[in-house]
Amino acid sequence: MEIKKAMQDAFNAQINKEFGAAYLYLSMAAYFEQRGLSGFAKWMKHQAQEELSHGMKCFTHIVERGGTVKLTAIDAPKQTWKSATDAFTDAYNHEKKVTASISELYTLAQKEGDYSALPLLHWFLEEQIEEEANTKAVLDKLALVDGQPSLYLLDKELGKRKEE
Ligand code: MG
Repeated sequence: MEIKKAMQDAFNAQINKEFGAAYLYLSMAAYFEQRGLSGFAKWMKHQAQEELSHGMKCFTHIVERGGTVKLTAIDAPKQTWKSATDAFTDAYNHEKKVTASISELYTLAQKEGDYSALPLLHWFLEEQIEEEANTKAVLDKLALVDGQPSLYLLDKELGKRKEE
Protein backbone atom coordinates (compact mmCIF):
# COMPACT_ATOMS: atom_id res chain seq x y z
CA MET A 1 0.00 0.00 0.00
CA GLU A 2 1.40 3.35 -1.05
CA ILE A 3 2.09 5.61 1.89
CA LYS A 4 -0.41 8.41 2.55
CA LYS A 5 0.71 12.02 2.82
CA ALA A 6 -0.02 12.30 6.56
CA MET A 7 2.03 9.19 7.34
CA GLN A 8 4.82 10.27 5.01
CA ASP A 9 5.03 13.63 6.83
CA ALA A 10 5.02 11.93 10.22
CA PHE A 11 7.78 9.48 9.22
CA ASN A 12 9.82 12.37 7.79
CA ALA A 13 9.42 14.20 11.12
CA GLN A 14 10.53 11.01 12.88
CA ILE A 15 13.70 10.85 10.73
CA ASN A 16 14.52 14.37 11.94
CA LYS A 17 13.91 13.33 15.58
CA GLU A 18 16.09 10.20 15.30
CA PHE A 19 18.95 12.10 13.67
CA GLY A 20 18.43 14.87 16.25
CA ALA A 21 18.81 12.24 18.98
CA ALA A 22 22.02 10.99 17.32
CA TYR A 23 23.30 14.56 17.38
CA LEU A 24 22.40 14.94 21.07
CA TYR A 25 24.15 11.70 22.04
CA LEU A 26 27.20 12.59 19.97
CA SER A 27 27.34 15.92 21.80
CA MET A 28 27.18 14.03 25.11
CA ALA A 29 29.99 11.75 23.84
CA ALA A 30 32.11 14.84 23.15
CA TYR A 31 31.30 16.17 26.64
CA PHE A 32 32.43 12.89 28.22
CA GLU A 33 35.57 12.64 26.03
CA GLN A 34 36.58 16.12 27.23
CA ARG A 35 36.34 14.91 30.81
CA GLY A 36 38.42 11.80 30.20
CA LEU A 37 35.39 9.54 30.64
CA SER A 38 36.00 7.37 27.61
CA GLY A 39 33.65 4.59 28.80
CA PHE A 40 30.73 7.01 29.03
CA ALA A 41 31.75 8.46 25.66
CA LYS A 42 31.79 4.99 24.10
CA TRP A 43 28.28 4.28 25.41
CA MET A 44 27.03 7.56 23.92
CA LYS A 45 28.75 7.02 20.55
CA HIS A 46 27.17 3.58 20.34
CA GLN A 47 23.80 5.14 21.20
CA ALA A 48 24.26 7.79 18.50
CA GLN A 49 24.90 5.03 15.92
CA GLU A 50 21.69 3.29 16.98
CA GLU A 51 19.71 6.50 16.48
CA LEU A 52 21.11 6.84 12.96
CA SER A 53 19.95 3.31 12.21
CA HIS A 54 16.48 4.19 13.57
CA GLY A 55 16.34 7.20 11.25
CA MET A 56 17.34 4.97 8.34
CA LYS A 57 14.54 2.52 9.16
CA CYS A 58 12.04 5.38 8.66
CA PHE A 59 13.88 6.51 5.52
CA THR A 60 13.69 3.00 3.99
CA HIS A 61 10.04 2.62 4.99
CA ILE A 62 9.07 5.83 3.13
CA VAL A 63 11.11 4.85 0.04
CA GLU A 64 9.80 1.28 -0.10
CA ARG A 65 6.23 2.55 0.03
CA GLY A 66 6.66 4.97 -2.84
CA GLY A 67 6.86 8.10 -0.70
CA THR A 68 9.23 11.05 -0.74
CA VAL A 69 11.91 11.51 1.90
CA LYS A 70 12.24 15.12 3.00
CA LEU A 71 15.18 15.94 5.25
CA THR A 72 14.86 19.03 7.40
CA ALA A 73 17.25 21.07 9.57
CA ILE A 74 18.47 19.58 12.82
CA ASP A 75 18.74 21.92 15.81
CA ALA A 76 22.15 22.24 17.45
CA PRO A 77 22.21 20.06 20.58
CA LYS A 78 23.15 21.18 24.08
CA GLN A 79 26.94 21.07 24.52
CA THR A 80 27.53 20.87 28.21
CA TRP A 81 26.04 19.32 31.33
CA LYS A 82 26.58 19.73 35.07
CA SER A 83 27.47 16.08 35.61
CA ALA A 84 27.13 12.58 34.20
CA THR A 85 23.82 12.29 36.07
CA ASP A 86 22.63 15.53 34.47
CA ALA A 87 23.49 14.21 30.98
CA PHE A 88 21.84 10.83 31.57
CA THR A 89 18.75 12.53 33.01
CA ASP A 90 18.50 14.46 29.73
CA ALA A 91 19.03 11.23 27.77
CA TYR A 92 16.31 9.45 29.75
CA ASN A 93 13.84 12.32 29.28
CA HIS A 94 14.70 12.39 25.59
CA GLU A 95 13.93 8.68 25.22
CA LYS A 96 10.57 9.20 26.93
CA LYS A 97 9.80 11.92 24.37
CA VAL A 98 10.75 9.57 21.51
CA THR A 99 8.42 6.91 22.94
CA ALA A 100 5.59 9.47 23.01
CA SER A 101 6.34 10.44 19.43
CA ILE A 102 6.28 6.79 18.23
CA SER A 103 3.00 6.31 20.09
CA GLU A 104 1.54 9.31 18.22
CA LEU A 105 2.71 7.78 14.94
CA TYR A 106 0.95 4.56 15.91
CA THR A 107 -2.29 6.43 16.69
CA LEU A 108 -2.04 8.22 13.33
CA ALA A 109 -1.44 4.91 11.50
CA GLN A 110 -4.61 3.52 13.07
CA LYS A 111 -6.60 6.64 12.20
CA GLU A 112 -5.35 6.49 8.58
CA GLY A 113 -5.95 2.73 8.36
CA ASP A 114 -2.25 2.35 7.53
CA TYR A 115 -1.77 -1.24 8.72
CA SER A 116 1.40 -1.62 6.63
CA ALA A 117 3.20 0.74 9.01
CA LEU A 118 2.26 -1.25 12.12
CA PRO A 119 5.01 -3.94 12.04
CA LEU A 120 7.70 -1.23 11.91
CA LEU A 121 5.96 0.77 14.64
CA HIS A 122 5.71 -2.36 16.81
CA TRP A 123 9.46 -2.80 16.39
CA PHE A 124 10.01 0.82 17.44
CA LEU A 125 7.76 0.48 20.50
CA GLU A 126 9.70 -2.57 21.69
CA GLU A 127 12.99 -0.83 20.99
CA GLN A 128 11.83 2.14 23.09
CA ILE A 129 11.13 -0.13 26.08
CA GLU A 130 14.77 -1.23 25.84
CA GLU A 131 16.11 2.30 25.26
CA GLU A 132 14.29 3.70 28.30
CA ALA A 133 15.34 0.73 30.47
CA ASN A 134 19.02 0.96 29.44
CA THR A 135 19.20 4.70 30.10
CA LYS A 136 17.36 4.35 33.43
CA ALA A 137 19.73 1.52 34.47
CA VAL A 138 22.74 3.84 34.05
CA LEU A 139 20.94 6.57 36.02
CA ASP A 140 20.22 4.11 38.85
CA LYS A 141 23.89 3.05 38.94
CA LEU A 142 25.02 6.69 38.96
CA ALA A 143 22.77 7.27 41.98
CA LEU A 144 24.41 4.30 43.75
CA VAL A 145 27.92 5.52 42.92
CA ASP A 146 27.00 8.92 44.40
CA GLY A 147 25.25 7.63 47.51
CA GLN A 148 26.43 4.09 48.26
CA PRO A 149 29.62 3.33 46.31
CA SER A 150 30.35 0.09 48.18
CA LEU A 151 26.87 -1.21 47.38
CA TYR A 152 27.58 -0.47 43.71
CA LEU A 153 30.79 -2.53 43.88
CA LEU A 154 29.06 -5.39 45.70
CA ASP A 155 26.32 -5.42 43.07
CA LYS A 156 28.99 -5.71 40.36
CA GLU A 157 30.58 -8.61 42.24
CA LEU A 158 27.25 -10.45 42.66
CA GLY A 159 26.48 -9.89 38.98
CA LYS A 160 29.45 -12.13 38.11
CA ARG A 161 27.81 -15.27 39.55
CA LYS A 162 27.58 -17.98 36.92
CA GLU A 163 24.60 -20.21 36.27
CA GLU A 164 25.09 -23.65 37.87
MG1 MG B 1 15.77 6.07 18.47
